[in-house]
Amino acid sequence: MGRLSAGLEPAGVGPANSTSEGTVSDLDQTIIGYDLWHLALPVVSRRDHGIGAVEGTCEIVVLRLTAEGGQNGWGEAAPWAVFTGSPEASYAALDRYIRPHVVGRRVGDRAAILADAARAVAHCTEAKAALETALLDLTGRIAGLPVWALLGGKCRDTIPLSVSIANPDFDADIDLLRRIRDDGVRLIKLKTGFAGHAFDILRLERIARDFPDFEVRVDFNQGLEPGDALARVRDIAAFSPAFIEQPVRSHHFGLMREIRSAIQVPLLADESVFGPEDMTRAVTEGIADGVSVKIMKAGGMGRARAVAQMAAAAGMTAYGGDMFESGLAHLAGAHMIAATPEITLGCEFYQAQYYLAEDILEAPFPSQGGKVTVPDGPGLGIRPDFDKLQHLANAA
Ligand code: MG
Repeated sequence: MGRLSAGLEPAGVGPANSTSEGTVSDLDQTIIGYDLWHLALPVVSRRDHGIGAVEGTCEIVVLRLTAEGGQNGWGEAAPWAVFTGSPEASYAALDRYIRPHVVGRRVGDRAAILADAARAVAHCTEAKAALETALLDLTGRIAGLPVWALLGGKCRDTIPLSVSIANPDFDADIDLLRRIRDDGVRLIKLKTGFAGHAFDILRLERIARDFPDFEVRVDFNQGLEPGDALARVRDIAAFSPAFIEQPVRSHHFGLMREIRSAIQVPLLADESVFGPEDMTRAVTEGIADGVSVKIMKAGGMGRARAVAQMAAAAGMTAYGGDMFESGLAHLAGAHMIAATPEITLGCEFYQAQYYLAEDILEAPFPSQGGKVTVPDGPGLGIRPDFDKLQHLANAA
């Protein structure tokens, strides 16, 4: 299973060539194809976060659904073992536990399929996100509608792009800062808490001095220990970043609340809030001023939107976060944010353009001038390149 079973041929029951569009146009079609790829995507540098590092490759699982008319729907599970879960777990969830609830069902029964999948296996939110994405892409392809329209319509055509600064080689990140500034990016998120407090202060000073065009956000990814967390966050807050994200471990709700009350800079929750259930507790306990919303944490676009709506109802802000994703998951996130007015702090769908050595989409992910442009074509608007999937599955 997982890496061992992923190879040149997808593990599935789909037709040998199911990339052609069929003629059946209604949502009563049966889902007859269910194919999986476990991919290893080469990345251009090491990146460090408070909870772990990525180097060499990041791994994702791609799902392709095929309806009886021949149309396809694509979805991505982008796990990170130290954060949400492992690619092997995503693959197993989709291959063994979710597949029986999908194959043979009608395309239009999306809500019932998702409810059955949610009960079939605990956690594995990235796998459930991949399933919902593929079902929405398939529905949109058949109906001739973009995914954002299926989610209720669009509130924005573009989303401000944030790029994360996380290379332990800061000179390399200086080069990246110059590049993204020239590309029109105006939001950055400095990853802190992985190489000492002095390194974080040094980088904040350098960025403030040499790159005043950027709005700076800071993300500890749980990297601080309880004993010195408050003092270090206070030092960071003195630089007046736009927000400080998840300084302590995900379950330290009391400490999050304490830090929030001690600083003037907004505090964001990320690892503390996966889905609506966590959001309920976060609101009740007052642990943050905002939340990072991710379809991989929430278990799909619908639940991610619910998190953002709950945040707004409680007077909190929401940010469009992501994992180490390809352009396919970025597309899902872009459609979700396009249909979610409560997410006002932009998105971080930068990996396809700035971090992967090679993306899997057949056309570049639409990110230019510091903005992501929401696609208007049917489904997600852009498909994966089949040859790239085969090539990168060989490397997994
Ligand atoms: Mg974060």
